[in-house]
Amino acid sequence: MTQHQIIDGKAFAENLRGDIAKRVAALKTAKNIIPGLAVILVGRNPASEVYVKNKAKQTKEVGMNSYEFHMQDTATEAELLAKIDELNKDTNVHGILVQLPLPKHMHETAVINAISPDKDVDGFHVISAGRLATGHTGFVPCTPLGCMMMLRDHFNKASPGAKPLAGLHAVIIGRSNIVGKPMAQLLLKEDCTVTVVHSKTKDIEQLVQMGDIVIAAVGQPELVKHNWLKKGAVVIDVGINRIALPDGKTKLVGDVAFHECFQVASAITPVPGGVGPMTIACLLENTLQSASK
Ligand code: NAD
Repeated sequence: MTQHQIIDGKAFAENLRGDIAKRVAALKTAKNIIPGLAVILVGRNPASEVYVKNKAKQTKEVGMNSYEFHMQDTATEAELLAKIDELNKDTNVHGILVQLPLPKHMHETAVINAISPDKDVDGFHVISAGRLATGHTGFVPCTPLGCMMMLRDHFNKASPGAKPLAGLHAVIIGRSNIVGKPMAQLLLKEDCTVTVVHSKTKDIEQLVQMGDIVIAAVGQPELVKHNWLKKGAVVIDVGINRIALPDGKTKLVGDVAFHECFQVASAITPVPGGVGPMTIACLLENTLQSASK
């Protein structure tokens, strides 16, 4: 009989942050190093302000130093690059994150690639992407890293070993640089067979039905329906979409129609409380790894 399990990302992230806090304390005792994360926010995007505030709070809670820099949206790209250069040279800073999206007059790629690859804890630098694609050690983007941790933990319970996902077919919906593509690289590294589908894919439902694992990273509210899934599939929902309700209120939903898919999947992450909390926890993990080097 198929079990229907919820993968609790909130609890997983809490455990991970607890473990990080212990390792931060040990690093301080052993080497007198306190990991430092610098976050730069340009402009006044309300969602970005909330993210940055949460990141700073959680950074401090695990005993790391948080450095926050708020720049006006009238700041020039040269001013932002100068700040990144300063932080690249600052030995108290082990991780640098520029909150996206940037104002339209700035070039996102140029800004991200100005961060030292040694401090690229978001894993968005072209060198980090290249390292991941070629199997070299480097920073892995936080959201796919969090998905991978939850998947490994889930499958490890059923078949403990170095590669508990080996041989499974994973279908990723979405091919972005920050989720879909790095997710594909990570799953290949685990010896999965990987299919990536996207907005131009034909017969998408039939392809998704092949997945023992389905990762949805699309940005379309509840796109994935119960009849898209193979019975017993493990579903990771990365999507975060705010939808309006008939009573005028709003709520967050994922890219997967949770209630109906829960009946078919053997395990599924909820939204909220699934992938989201793991993303910041993995940012802290990457910062700690950087400081430990
Ligand atoms: P993106 O817009 O960069 O990419 C979306 C991808 O989905 C594209 O590759 C596109 O081809 C594909 N797509 C669009 N419509 C489609 C359709 N109808 N059918 C199949 N594929 C389609 O988005 P992203 O940055 O990868 O984010 C995806 C979602 O994940 C968003 O909802 C975002 O908010 C969320 N997200 C969550 C976290 C987190 O921490 N939980 C982190 C990053 C992104």
